[in-house]
Amino acid sequence: MSRLFGMYGRMCASRPWEVIVAVITFTACFLTMENPRKPVPITPSTTCLGCKEDHFHAADVVVMTIIRCLAILYSYHQFRNLQNLGSKYILGIAGLFVVFSSFVFTSAVLNILQIELVDLKDALFFFLLLIDLSKAAKLAQFALISSNEDEIASCIAKGVSVLGPTITLDTIVETLVIGVGTLSGVHRLEILSYFACLSVIVNYIIFMTFYPACLSLMMELGKVSNFYGEEQAGVTKMLLEESEKSNPAVQRVKLIMSIGLMVVHIHSRWSITNNDYQEGLNKNQTEKFDCTEDTSFYGYVMKQFALSADHIVILILLITLMIKFIFFESKEPLREYVEPEMIREIKKGIHRQKRTISSSVEVQTDVEYNRYIEAENSDEQANDAPRSLQDCLKIYRADEANILTDNEIVMLVDTKHVPAYNLEKAVKNPERGVKIRRKILENTLKRTESLINLPFRNYDYSKVLGACCENVIGYIPVPVGIAGPLLMDDKKYYIPMATTEGCLIASTNRGCRAIEKSGIKTRLISDGMTRAPVVRFPSIVKASDAVTWLKDSDNFATMKKSFDSTSRFAKLQKITTHIAGRYLFIRFVAETGDAMGMNMISKGTECCLQTLYRHFPEMEILSLSGNVCTDKKPSAINWLQNRGKSVVCECIISSEVVSSVLKTTTKALVDLNISKNMVGSAIAGSIGGFNAHASNIVTAIFIATGQDAAQNISSSNCMTIMEPWGEKGEDLYVSCTMPSIEIGTIGGGTILPAQSACLDMLGVRGPHEDVPGANAKQLARIVCASVLAGEVSLMAALASGHLVRSHLKYNRSYSGKNALGLGLSCGGGSVDSCDR
Ligand code: NAP
Repeated sequence: MSRLFGMYGRMCASRPWEVIVAVITFTACFLTMENPRKPVPITPSTTCLGCKEDHFHAADVVVMTIIRCLAILYSYHQFRNLQNLGSKYILGIAGLFVVFSSFVFTSAVLNILQIELVDLKDALFFFLLLIDLSKAAKLAQFALISSNEDEIASCIAKGVSVLGPTITLDTIVETLVIGVGTLSGVHRLEILSYFACLSVIVNYIIFMTFYPACLSLMMELGKVSNFYGEEQAGVTKMLLEESEKSNPAVQRVKLIMSIGLMVVHIHSRWSITNNDYQEGLNKNQTEKFDCTEDTSFYGYVMKQFALSADHIVILILLITLMIKFIFFESKEPLREYVEPEMIREIKKGIHRQKRTISSSVEVQTDVEYNRYIEAENSDEQANDAPRSLQDCLKIYRADEANILTDNEIVMLVDTKHVPAYNLEKAVKNPERGVKIRRKILENTLKRTESLINLPFRNYDYSKVLGACCENVIGYIPVPVGIAGPLLMDDKKYYIPMATTEGCLIASTNRGCRAIEKSGIKTRLISDGMTRAPVVRFPSIVKASDAVTWLKDSDNFATMKKSFDSTSRFAKLQKITTHIAGRYLFIRFVAETGDAMGMNMISKGTECCLQTLYRHFPEMEILSLSGNVCTDKKPSAINWLQNRGKSVVCECIISSEVVSSVLKTTTKALVDLNISKNMVGSAIAGSIGGFNAHASNIVTAIFIATGQDAAQNISSSNCMTIMEPWGEKGEDLYVSCTMPSIEIGTIGGGTILPAQSACLDMLGVRGPHEDVPGANAKQLARIVCASVLAGEVSLMAALASGHLVRSHLKYNRSYSGKNALGLGLSCGGGSVDSCDR
């Protein structure tokens, strides 16, 4: 059955125009069709013979008014639920559905039952009471999952296949049950039952024909894909697989009930002929009486009131609802159409899926998984009445905040009982902590959709907390590309680069290709992270005494002992001093193994200062960092005295490669290097900036491999030298000298899974097993060699005047399709500064 409905749904969704036109044409034909039957009036209880006005019993008026009010309240409730979904599309589509089906229903009532126009209002209220908008919203949700036009038909088909069988069975059951009312013999009830039956049938027909077609058309025209955002789409996608698994027992009961009712209907209608029907009608015809006696004022007022009381009640109700909706409504989170049980199942599904996908990187332990479910369960209580602040505090103090709902946690944060930075710990679930912080931020910003495109799911926050980032609200996905192979020290490497600058990786790649034959040779000249505290003495005499003390080799040994005691890997190499009046800057230089080492060296330095203080109690320690280190600021000292890893690399590129790959000549490159990288940088007063764009390559590799990105400042210090080579001087010699690469393969962001993966690609993940520090040193060489590749390519582009052209091509290829097209063509050599 599901498959059949699915095929039918696809047909409706893929030919929306045809279906809509067919439905409208059919309705129009239906409306204009002649019906020989006489109009059937909904007769009033009595008709006054004197004034010829219809009179209803007070009970009739009251009952009808209650029904109308119920219909209005029910419709209002349904639209409120739709509004809570937060989608103007669903609201609009459902509105259209109601309007169109009401129109068809009205036409049908007028034509089939031949009801007089005045009685139509009762029919319409009945219709509103019976219409089920939740199903319409569900189908709309299915449709809105589609992320592109091709998926629309499939999503709607899936929706129809899921909802169709249930709705069909429901329609049959409802029609048969309500149909019993048409056999009651009570004329008014019979007519109302006819209305109700017709409502159910019209609702069904429109839902199965006009509605899917209309949905498909609106989706195509509006391109409303992904409106829910990634998270909701994910959840709803799971809905496709898991939802609406109808309970077979209920289905069976409905079927049996339908068959039974069918028998009742056939049996009852067998003997009822059209004449019987007319007779029945005549029998129940209006009683006549004369009301002319009551001509008093009181009687007149009562008559007027009786006729218009229901209208007044309905009017008041409508106005109240309108005021409520406009001034007092607030949106509540989506909960209505997805039952809590289903949500739990879906989330479990997602969680399991996440665990399967990340089998190589185990995301969460079972304990965390249970906590996750626990947290989600507590979320489901969100619809229950919230606990009081006191109760929440008690639970929080008992270290069980994880059982509180998100809203309750927000309340604790708002009332300053839980610090917002401590949410992850409080709820014992990092992802939930992040989710609640986003909620608080959204409330503060008063922009509920501002964080939709900032992802936060599926991230291992346990590695971030207390190590890499605080007050986390998600993560920024940065594209990562590769350049290479880069032939360095006789080994090939593929260089991961995270960047949003188009052309950068393509250009570096071309540089790699240019040096692919000769390869690059690298050497590490020195390795030593630095930290320079600032201390103050009472006089320059005392300060210079301290300098003399520190230069003594025995005293250095004392300091080294202190320093080295703080780490297994940090080893103090030397201490240099820089005096400025009575201020003294003591620059500690230490190897830090495979770590970049800032924390390690800070620890060691602090310990050394305590040792120095014991010898110079008059010394005032002003700051652990006195800017002579120098960390994350441009400085000459790092350029002149090195910091971190100091690396040089060189390569020779033959004249053929210079012309075929780089599309220029050695002479032009050498000339440009002197004028730009030497003279130009000297004129600019540059320190360490004697290069074309070393920082581009350094930063992209730093981001990809989890380095401290702010350290690109000193790490990008580089001098690029180009010389003519060979007998004729037509080959090209290039070298890059980088004295201060601050880099590591352990600690900081290197421990995060994605960054770890990039380090793994280069074979330098984590600490080196045998020689501590070997991995970090190797990574520094790779950075230097990649810089050389990038330098060669950009210089060539500038020399041949192609930079702007290729940048425009790559940076402005906004559509994915276009960018791909360009990328493919540049492999053939048509793009000059870039190469895939
Ligand atoms: P870290 O993660 O603080 O320290 C490295 C840890 O790894 C140490 O505990 C070390 O052991 C251990 N380790 C294990 N095997 C190792 C090996 N083979 N080589 C080296 N260490 C090994 O990392 P860090 O590089 O010192 O500091 C990096 C962090 O500092 C980054 O997050 C960065 O953003 C931040 N940073 C700090 C400052 C600052 O002023 N403090 C400045 C800039 C950046 P031991 O305990 O035995 O040493």
